[in-house]
Amino acid sequence: MVKINEKFLTMKKNYLFIDIAKRLKAFTEANPDKPLIRMGIGDVTLPLAPVVVEAIKKAADEMGVKETFRGYEDSGSGYDFLKEAIAGYYKSFGVSLELSEIRVNDGAKADCGNIVDIFGDGNTILVTDPAYPVYVDSNIMAGREVIFADSNEENGFAAMPDDNIHADIIYLCSPNNPTGSVYTKAQLKEWVDYALRNEAVIIFDSAYEAFVSDPELPRSIYAVEGAKKCAIEMCSLSKTAGFTGTRCGYTIIPEELIVKASDGSDVSLAQIWGRRQGSKFNGVSYPIQRGAEAVFTPEGQKQTHEAIDYYRRNAKVMADALTELGIKFTGGINSPYIWLKCPNGMGSWEFFDFLLNNIQVVGTPGEGFGKNGAGWFRLTAFGTYENTVEAMRRFKELLK
Ligand code: PLP
Repeated sequence: MVKINEKFLTMKKNYLFIDIAKRLKAFTEANPDKPLIRMGIGDVTLPLAPVVVEAIKKAADEMGVKETFRGYEDSGSGYDFLKEAIAGYYKSFGVSLELSEIRVNDGAKADCGNIVDIFGDGNTILVTDPAYPVYVDSNIMAGREVIFADSNEENGFAAMPDDNIHADIIYLCSPNNPTGSVYTKAQLKEWVDYALRNEAVIIFDSAYEAFVSDPELPRSIYAVEGAKKCAIEMCSLSKTAGFTGTRCGYTIIPEELIVKASDGSDVSLAQIWGRRQGSKFNGVSYPIQRGAEAVFTPEGQKQTHEAIDYYRRNAKVMADALTELGIKFTGGINSPYIWLKCPNGMGSWEFFDFLLNNIQVVGTPGEGFGKNGAGWFRLTAFGTYENTVEAMRRFKELLK
């Protein structure tokens, strides 16, 4: 008889956003005359930059001509033209990468989840709480136990290492989803030093690095000395360049990241991740890699930054409204997320229903990201400017 992975039965039945979608469906069926303003799910609303669209079209044309058609990409880890563009981008903020350290993928979520394949069962997994759900879910699916480092109001939603607790694998995300907080270089250095002391590996999710505007804040963990010996970095063009529906990202595993096997031999994590990907992943389509390459050209940077500035303006509208209302929040400056404390002691699902029923503004209950999200709520800056202004007008009227 077939046996299922019973770890799935221990998990919440639905991914957070499916639960939210169900509630919204019920509301709109009961109230068809009340349109929603969606500031919940972290999807972008602006289209791809023209330079990206042109590059994808041109590459699609090449695919229709015998001489320039391409089938499987030999390495499956990304064409050199894109890896060179990514390495050049990192160089612009002072991080030097070898092309062999970069692996192109179809967005960061799959790698964030699949990376568990290369680690053994006996590891202690540490996740900062609240967190992007994939880190915890993928470990539970793999039958691993997860412990948490608290990100809360007291520490400004920036969990720090504790030497009384040993961890082998540590998930960090900065700028953080959902809290919008960003680790300083000194804070990241503490995590790197902790990882080196514990012979641990950090999985650093930098999906929102493009929103960092403060030059003092690190956009990559490799801005910190020693990080190449202990950290894997995962990034994505989803929020940087509106690739949520186009799908392209990259994972960086430095050559220096060497760990010990149980027989004492040295193992390169880049090598075993490459082995894993070689068996289970066949690469990203050529036209999409050409579109991604265009993001890193000077014109691509100019055009994609116009979109980021548009979202930043939305974040400011929200930050100003919350400040006016005296509601506590983090994020919104170097991040597209605003993480606010539910007013009047409301729980986060209670506040979700309160906003939905009274002003039809949809956010994300903080509780969905972990226990420290209870009583907190996430809004995103990825909507239209007009909707953001209208949502905040309603917010002020309801909560003043
Ligand atoms: N990491 C974080 C923190 C995210 O919020 C997301 C998407 O929302 C991702 C990774 C994955 O993005 P994608 O798979 O679209 O590249």
